[in-house]
Formats: sequence, C-alpha cells, structure tokens
Amino acid sequence: MLDKTLAEDIVRAALRTVNELGRDLATLQAGTSLNLGTPRWEALQKHFHLLPQVSSSLGRAVTQADLDFIKENYQGVLQVFLNSSLTFRNGPPVSDAAPARGSFADQKIFFGTAFKDFDTPDAKAIGPNSRAAMLVHEAIHLTDNRSGEPNIHISEFDPLYDKMSADEAIHNSSGYATFAWHVKRGFDQPRFGGGAAMGSDGPSFKRVFQSFGWAGFYFRCRRG
Ligand SMILES: [Zn+2]
Repeated sequence: MLDKTLAEDIVRAALRTVNELGRDLATLQAGTSLNLGTPRWEALQKHFHLLPQVSSSLGRAVTQADLDFIKENYQGVLQVFLNSSLTFRNGPPVSDAAPARGSFADQKIFFGTAFKDFDTPDAKAIGPNSRAAMLVHEAIHLTDNRSGEPNIHISEFDPLYDKMSADEAIHNSSGYATFAWHVKRGFDQPRFGGGAAMGSDGPSFKRVFQSFGWAGFYFRCRRG
C-alpha cells in the first residue's frame, strides 16, 4: 500500500525531528545559545504548543518528557503500520461517507469506501499526501487513548487547533499528522488531511469534501 509507505516516511521524518529537538533542548539547558528560528521549533510550537525553555501565550516550556511522549506515539504509529495486516480493516463499521476511523478499543483502523473511491479517475480527491496524513491521524487513535476526547480531537483546520493547551495538543491525532508533514516539507501551509487542505492535494478534493463535509468526517472519526 503506497499510502502506508508515504505515511511511514513522514513519521520517520517526525521521529528524526523529535530527536533533533531533544539535542537542541540539551544544548539550551547547557547554557549554549542556539538558533531557534528553525522549522522544527516552529512546528513544535504550532502543533504541540511547546516552546524552548519559556512559557508564553503561545505555549509552555517543553521538557524532555514531552519529547519522549511524542516519540512514543510516533513509534506506536509505525508499529500500527507494521502490523497493518491485523490493524487495517475494510468495511464496517465505517459504512457512511467517512474515509477512515481509528479505534483504540478495537486496535484497528477501519477504511470506508470513501477512502478508496478517491483514487478513481473521476474523483481523484484526497490524493496520497492527505491520505498519508489521515493514516497518521487514525493510527494515533490506536496508540493514544486520550486522542478521542472532544477537547483534544480537534481538526488542524479548526480555529480551536491553535487555542488548545500543550497538555491537550500532545494527545491530538491531527497535531501528529500535521507536525509530520510540517517537518517533512519544512513548512506548514497548505496542510494535508481531511479538511480544508482542499485544493492543495488535487483540484477535485474540495468538491468531494463539500459533498459530505469535513466537519462530518471529524465527527465520525472517533475512537470507538
Ligand atoms: Zn480522528
């Protein structure tokens, strides 16, 4: 499955980056100055609301424990992909228009027809980049049992995404997918995923998502 290969690729980029952030943090804690205007620190703030050493309205100071936690979730995602013969399932209970749904209780990602149908020539909608983002998002639902809480399960296209606390953001499945694409590319926008990335991943993306609504997708995308 090519989508899985791409998703693994961005998760590995995220893991490398989290390791680099750990080295940066140790350097800062040793009292050595560092250029913090790098994509990795920008991504850490934007998606996990964690900052180097000081807290502000943008987030709180990151600890090595935060980085270890994020790393464990990403490693868990790779494990979900590695076990995809067990963890990936087609069909019910995804019977409506939702492309996919990750379930912590079942330890499975269920794929609806919408996920596959986007590959048809007529509706080449989501595209591989957004499908990779969705895979990471859904896999986090299998690794982090807090990821489905309503105040945590916030889309990267929702204005509330920027307003979450760091302690919520480090459980947000959308944050993991979006952080991974951010550090893979070195920039954030436009974002990939099941929302307003609309257009960034193919011209008909918007049309198909409008037909069932991305809010509906996030509503349905619940850990079970
Ligand atoms: Zn979800």
